[in-house]
Amino acid sequence: DNIPSKEQIQTALDNAYAFAKTVQGGKNASYIPALAQVPSDLLAIAAVTVNGDVLTAGSADRPFAIESISKAFNLAYVMDLIGMKQLRTKIGADPTGEPFNSVMAIELHGGKPLNPLVNAGAMATVSLVNGADADEIWANMMNNFNSFANTALTVNQEIYKSESATNQHNRGIAWLLDSYGYFYNTPPMIVDLYTRMCSLNITTAQLALMGSCYANGGVNPVSKKRVVKEENVPPILAEMCMSGLYDSTGDWMYKAGLPAKSGVGGGLVAVSPGKMALAAFSPPLDPAGNTVRGQAALQSIIKELNLNLFRS
Ligand code: GLN
Repeated sequence: DNIPSKEQIQTALDNAYAFAKTVQGGKNASYIPALAQVPSDLLAIAAVTVNGDVLTAGSADRPFAIESISKAFNLAYVMDLIGMKQLRTKIGADPTGEPFNSVMAIELHGGKPLNPLVNAGAMATVSLVNGADADEIWANMMNNFNSFANTALTVNQEIYKSESATNQHNRGIAWLLDSYGYFYNTPPMIVDLYTRMCSLNITTAQLALMGSCYANGGVNPVSKKRVVKEENVPPILAEMCMSGLYDSTGDWMYKAGLPAKSGVGGGLVAVSPGKMALAAFSPPLDPAGNTVRGQAALQSIIKELNLNLFRS
């Protein structure tokens, strides 16, 4: 195989950490008040290879809110459940070109959520999870997250409360989709489950492990359990290439050339198919909502280890 050695990966992580420390700029998310309170100088990087090797730099065991990164993993469960075709019909696949919580993007496309990685499409994705009531749906969602992370994840109650008290915009989006026939369960219940999902605690090392399941064709390289159908991995990674960093995914793809997903908690995960996943955490965000230092760190590693998918 052409997977870089553990030593090469560790050196790339250490170099990226030292470099990212010097990168300035960005601001913690403040529209969710509890996220503004997270120390801005935290920085962590992790890599998990398809062989299950875990390498880290910085505070990779410090939990933070997964936020939008959860969208890319709940998608696996729902795609396995209803299939790629149904997902494309009910939600869509194309980038919006608009911010992650855009109402305009919905209005401009006949009420369709457009893709599962923006708030509209992600909430619609949650509305497709099976279960007779909120408890059953949540249990199914958590089973899926826990098998990606190979541990029992927990909700950060402080973030959950803070986000629940300030998520009127998301509630509006859910009702709007419902009015157009693009929502598949009761809006208030689903928005609450979506908000809980976004408030999950995750560490940088766990996030890299979650991503490594995608790098490994849908099998968790540590537990060796299949967590998503093999056929669904390519479309999910394609979706991350198109919309993983919202309306600045193009900038990311030019520089990094790897499918990735960010969250306003400051997390970022990138997938190098057949090799490894990389994750980073640093709270300050660029205007689109992506971690500034996290992007710098992962781009540095991708360059050093020559992981850009579009290089021959
Ligand atoms: N929970 C956040 C929201 O719904 C997630 C957004 C994000 O990470 N971009 O606004």
